[in-house]
Amino acid sequence: MRLDILTCLPKLLESPFSDSILKRAQDKKLVEVVVHDLRSYSTTKHRTTDDYAFGGGAGMVMTIEPIDRCISVLKEQRTYHEIIYMSPDGELLNQSLANQLSLKENLILLCGHYKGVDERVREHLITREVSIGDYVLSGGELAAAVLADSIIRLIPGVLSDETSALTDSFQDGLVAPPVYTRPAEYKGWKVPEVLLSGHEAKINEWRHDQSLERTKKRRPGLGMV
Ligand code: SAH
Repeated sequence: MRLDILTCLPKLLESPFSDSILKRAQDKKLVEVVVHDLRSYSTTKHRTTDDYAFGGGAGMVMTIEPIDRCISVLKEQRTYHEIIYMSPDGELLNQSLANQLSLKENLILLCGHYKGVDERVREHLITREVSIGDYVLSGGELAAAVLADSIIRLIPGVLSDETSALTDSFQDGLVAPPVYTRPAEYKGWKVPEVLLSGHEAKINEWRHDQSLERTKKRRPGLGMV
């Protein structure tokens, strides 16, 4: 998969992709993440990417030209399955959307800033809008990193234990069961006996029961329960 992220603040996207699972995924060539500085596509003297809003009011608006130029250059090089604008009023990110997007070959993620992007970008240049929750961030960079992380970890081979993403919350309409590690007892707080029994079938049954119970309690609206 190739992910192109368009931003006027590329530095904000350096660290999320330079460590741990997202870094390993790139090292293993399972995903290529390319961050583009929209300022390089600006034709103004000071390489600006924003301007005052028509009609007045507080806050700058990201201009269409650098975004259009950047997207055009990328589209000349390959076909993109989705061009996604990160937006608080977009479709809400959930596991099913992450699953869907993880099957795509090439994606563009566009990060807004300030008041957002000129509406004509949304009308003419993008194919989809994604929100990571009903709250407003100062920019789309963190949101794009969240979306990218949720997608990349689903690409086969990215997680070392292949089944690990499948047993995460939401994959089967259930939240994950509790997990424990050593020591088996800490300050008198014990790990459930069954997990120490070595009896795989019983452990699986316990985990499934816990998932069901937790889903009922914490996320009663989720799929299967
Ligand atoms: N004025 C806009 C908010 C702009 S916030 C409004 O009220 O809707 C600046 C940028 O941050 C947006 O363009 C978007 O790219 C990003 N952003 C903010 N909150 C977000 C969220 N919940 N999900 C995804 N992107 C978000």
